[in-house]
Amino acid sequence: MAKLQAIRGMNDILPENSLSWQYLEAAFQRVVRRFGYQEIRFPILEQTQLFKRSIGEVTDIVEKEMYSFDDRNGDNLSLRPEGTAGCVRAADQHGLLYNQQQRLWYQGPMFRHERPQKGRYRQFHQFGVEAFGMPGPDIDVEVLQVAATLWAELGLAEYLQLELNNIGSAEDRKIYGAALTEFLQSREDQLDDDARNRMHTNPMRVLDSKNPDVQAALAGAPELDEFVNEESKEHYAELQALLSASGISFIENPRLVRGLDYYNNCVYEWTTDTLGAQGAVCGGGRYDGLVAQLGGRQTLACGFAIGIERLVLMLDSLEKIPAAALQPIDIYVTCIGDRVTKQTLALAQAIRTTCPDLGVISHCGGGKFNGQLKRAFNSGAKLAVILERDGDSATDLQTARIRVLDDSAATETHEISAIPAKVAEILEISAS
Ligand code: AMP
Repeated sequence: MAKLQAIRGMNDILPENSLSWQYLEAAFQRVVRRFGYQEIRFPILEQTQLFKRSIGEVTDIVEKEMYSFDDRNGDNLSLRPEGTAGCVRAADQHGLLYNQQQRLWYQGPMFRHERPQKGRYRQFHQFGVEAFGMPGPDIDVEVLQVAATLWAELGLAEYLQLELNNIGSAEDRKIYGAALTEFLQSREDQLDDDARNRMHTNPMRVLDSKNPDVQAALAGAPELDEFVNEESKEHYAELQALLSASGISFIENPRLVRGLDYYNNCVYEWTTDTLGAQGAVCGGGRYDGLVAQLGGRQTLACGFAIGIERLVLMLDSLEKIPAAALQPIDIYVTCIGDRVTKQTLALAQAIRTTCPDLGVISHCGGGKFNGQLKRAFNSGAKLAVILERDGDSATDLQTARIRVLDDSAATETHEISAIPAKVAEILEISAS
């Protein structure tokens, strides 16, 4: 019988890769904590309506990419394609939003039925932060500082570029959309089917067309900038001034509109050219209308989401993860010969107690010296602690050897009770 395989675009993260993930997750959690953000966890599955009403009916995500199905009660549910909608739903449902300020973060898997390629998957993972109840632009800058601090912490700052745009209010975009539709109608014969459909339903998406003929037809199209209201422009100018004062550099990208309908005013993406085609690592902006759109009271809001896979790809390819973080095991304790199991278990445990930050494997399953040493090498440990009984004896072993698992094969013998402290000394860590 053929073996079952994972679903295309849904990755297994194997032990050798999960250390990079853990390194990144720990860095993110450290950073959000430093900014006073608190974690919120919400379900992976929600009512499909939630995503339709927030992301927008006429968006790629809702039209083509959601994993939606009827459950056994006939309710139409979807795997979350992004985090903001669920975060808003959860925070509002539990009364966290009205008349309050909240700084929240989340992380977890998202699902979009896109065409898989490097950096683009059907199950992927995001970190997100969402801030509620503040008009900005101070909070917008703070949220961007969270991202910038993470890049600095990870050694990635020089590889990431912040791109900004001001997309105005929903009303501005409605008026702009009408002007764009009128313009596109005048060029209808130069458009492809997709653009012709989009022209009436979501004309701004035509701007993203990859078809060079459509791009050519867009020459001279009205620019969104001309339709953005004054208040929005002031917000945007102040945001830029505050960003510059905070030392965060940016470029303006008037073509940046984001694929989700709920944004307003400032939107942004952090992009890199180290990843090839999928260069966007983080995207976000303000979404002041979303809470009310989902049935809550009017609540100002902003936030971003970071693609974890893409950051891991960057960290790995640029070799930014310190070797210590990729060290799965530090010590391998062998158990060779008759009646050493009890002492092996006890010694491994004593080392764990003395050196609580180390990973200590206590060999299980028996076997000869060579086999156990090979396992020690393959484990990636730095040291082997060798408990070995040559012959048959009823008495406890008095000594064990510590062997450095490198070419030097340097070995020293000590009383068993001294081993934990010696291990700490060799690895230059403080023993507790
Ligand atoms: P979005 O809100 O769609 O811009 O997503 C925010 C971030 O999530 C992007 O900048 C990417 O880093 C990441 N992302 C989005 N879609 C995918 C995907 N299909 N596979 C991997 N990462 C993704």
